[in-house]
Amino acid sequence: SIVNKDIGSLPAAFPNLSPSILDLFSLSGKSAIITGGARGIGFVISEAYLQAGCSKLAIIDYADNDVVLQNLRETFPKAHITYHHCDVRKAEQVEEVISTIHADFGVIDIFVANAGIAWTAGPLIDQETDFDWHNVMNVDLNGVYYCAKNIGRIFREQGKGSLIMTASMSAHIVNVPQLQAAYNVAKAGVLHLGKSLAIEWAPFARVNTVSPGYIATELSDFVPDELKNSWYAVTPKGRQGLPRELCGAYLYLASDAATYTTGSDMRVDGGYTAV
Ligand code: NAD
Repeated sequence: SIVNKDIGSLPAAFPNLSPSILDLFSLSGKSAIITGGARGIGFVISEAYLQAGCSKLAIIDYADNDVVLQNLRETFPKAHITYHHCDVRKAEQVEEVISTIHADFGVIDIFVANAGIAWTAGPLIDQETDFDWHNVMNVDLNGVYYCAKNIGRIFREQGKGSLIMTASMSAHIVNVPQLQAAYNVAKAGVLHLGKSLAIEWAPFARVNTVSPGYIATELSDFVPDELKNSWYAVTPKGRQGLPRELCGAYLYLASDAATYTTGSDMRVDGGYTAV
């Protein structure tokens, strides 16, 4: 019989939904690391994972935000929750922080590489500086790569693990009228990195991406309302999404309901890229 650390011995695990389908979605007793968890999508995923039963959760973020840690610890007193100040652009910092969390948690079941920045410079590529381009690449693509590399070593050693990376609908399409080449390219890189790692690591880990559409977070605070309204007008759902509307995708991909799901991308974009 085939033995797989995700599901045990195949004949024993098949065909029963044992003990129940809802239990497959539980993260009870699991440990997770989430980058960019200080606010926005990453924070809501952190809350969702703790509600779903995570017993150990580490947030990695370059923002200092003790309030987040304090609030989560008050809401989930039984969980072991830690907060780590780290800039995902810095390879050495990422290596050090993941190794610190590994030593603390022992096993790491789930890693969500979610920290990211949006386009904040001029809209056209001939008007941007090299710094603008490299900064977006360093956070949105290289930062994800550093995280993936370090968690991959741990997943290989453990023989199991789920890596989820936040891409974007911008990985699939070019937004008009907000042109943002560096962001589009970085997110397309994340999408393809996800597929590549899923194949490389198939024997011991699952790797998937989530591609959100327009989600109400501080990421797009700099975008004028007029532009935002023009986006929503061409979004089939006719509105922006809320961070909590992404939780189902992140929960599924992290959970044992997804033991055969790898190399996939879940678009949660109100239908934007289906048009
Ligand atoms: P946000 O700005 O609210 O949160 C991003 C978090 O990442 C912040 O806590 C920030 O401090 C952290 N971060 C940024 N750069 C970092 C770095 N170098 N090192 C460590 N931490 C860093 O944004 P959000 O909307 O929650 O975005 C989360 C992810 O979702 C990003 O990857 C973003 O590109 C992606 N995304 C967002 C939207 C959207 O509409 N909000 C759409 C598609 C994809």
